[in-house]
Amino acid sequence: MNMHPEIDRDQMTPQQAIEILQQGNERFVKYGKHQYDMLAVRDELKDKQHPFASILSCSDSRTAVELIFDQNLGDIFSVRLAGNVASTLAIGSLEFSSQYLGSKLVVVMGHSNCGAVKAACDHFKGGNIGEIIQMIDPAVSQEKSEEDNRTSSNPTFVEKVCWQNVNQQIENIKNQSEIISEMIEKKEIGLIGAVYDLATGHVQFDL
Ligand SMILES: [Zn+2]
Repeated sequence: MNMHPEIDRDQMTPQQAIEILQQGNERFVKYGKHQYDMLAVRDELKDKQHPFASILSCSDSRTAVELIFDQNLGDIFSVRLAGNVASTLAIGSLEFSSQYLGSKLVVVMGHSNCGAVKAACDHFKGGNIGEIIQMIDPAVSQEKSEEDNRTSSNPTFVEKVCWQNVNQQIENIKNQSEIISEMIEKKEIGLIGAVYDLATGHVQFDL
């Protein structure tokens, strides 16, 4: 069954949504895959959806949010773009889930060893990938603590840019979305950053 039916979801606070994700991630770290009854849920959700969280994350094949937060169909409104960049279309998707689907929380989630972040660290240019890299560039410039090796061959630099990028995309959302900013002000939704560790499976929230 769906773990978060509509009536429970509507009464949920943003903080409770964070806790549900944290608990799901703990289960994933400990046990890996959980087997849900997707057939029953698929039937239940055929006419409507009531996700409790919206997550902007990287398209990386290792960061499927339903798996790493141990959630079922219908629980997470997932927006995925390389480098978890908050493009206009990504922000529009988050506005849709927050305003019209009643999702209580927006998470911007980066991850360790992200190819898009590493490409930005190395000032990659080319094709439409360049548009994504341009959206990560400000995070590279704002990370000033690493002075010596500011390339993807420096894991510390990459990790710091990853967090900086999460914060940068959160700023983009706040600056470009009146809908989301107003909902945050009214405490109808929360907005939080997080980074997923590919090696351990653990998600660190920016609490
Ligand atoms: Zn990535």
